Amino acid sequence: MSTPIQKLASVNDVRPFTIRLAFHGGLGFFVRRGIDPAAVERHLNEAASVKDVIEACGVPHPEVDLILVHGKPVDFSYRLKGNAAVEVYGVGSTITLFPEDRLQTQNIQLFIADGHLGKLVRDLRLLGIDVVYDPAAEDRQLVDLAKTDNRALLTRDRRLLMHASVRHGHYLRSQDPLKQTIEVLCRFDLSSAFAPFSRCLHCNALLEQVEKSEVIEQLEPLTKIYYEQFRRCTGCGQIYWPGSHFDKLLGRIEGIRATLTAKHRSEDQT
Ligand SMILES: [Zn+2]
Repeated sequence: MSTPIQKLASVNDVRPFTIRLAFHGGLGFFVRRGIDPAAVERHLNEAASVKDVIEACGVPHPEVDLILVHGKPVDFSYRLKGNAAVEVYGVGSTITLFPEDRLQTQNIQLFIADGHLGKLVRDLRLLGIDVVYDPAAEDRQLVDLAKTDNRALLTRDRRLLMHASVRHGHYLRSQDPLKQTIEVLCRFDLSSAFAPFSRCLHCNALLEQVEKSEVIEQLEPLTKIYYEQFRRCTGCGQIYWPGSHFDKLLGRIEGIRATLTAKHRSEDQT
């Protein structure tokens, strides 16, 4: 008489299942071309966090503001173990559902920028916004500083934004510095944080007003004659005054404000 072979349940039992994801609120940008962002399928053989499944579709977690599994809000650590329908909404989505379950903070005012973003950094500092920037910094340093200072990471490196230690951040869609500036101002709702000419464009430290007599030795002959108001960087000592460069910077600020206003107006009309 043969003994039936007992089938043992094993943790390695593989029961394939399918996750159907729909990406909304601008997240389609990250989904591979040719795939409908509203109907992405992932076939899994073992349980996985919803965060890992979303990032496997190309969408960095700092861009995700709300996740619904079968219509209910979940956080990034939620485990997917069987067939599921997942709705994923980006920051700035027009939906107003589940305001208590949002995964991102909008009003962050401290930033760190990845290399190659010098023009964006200059624009933001010109507006008085605190942005750490060292083009020579390594990825590890950027991620560590973002975490310890609770700074949002600005980058065009999708993999870097997916780093587990990154809590807040934004992937710059545009390569144009003005459009990048507008993206950051809108994503983090910074219009009320503007304080033009309060921060050093070179080193990010705050500027202080100084008497002419304090800096006169460092001024060019014509500057000594024509200007009375001076600011000095509390970090690197750079002196600023309303000279010819000032008009250019003022023009840049006005350009940013005008573009921002036009954007808000066009959004109000849609
Ligand atoms: Zn400085």
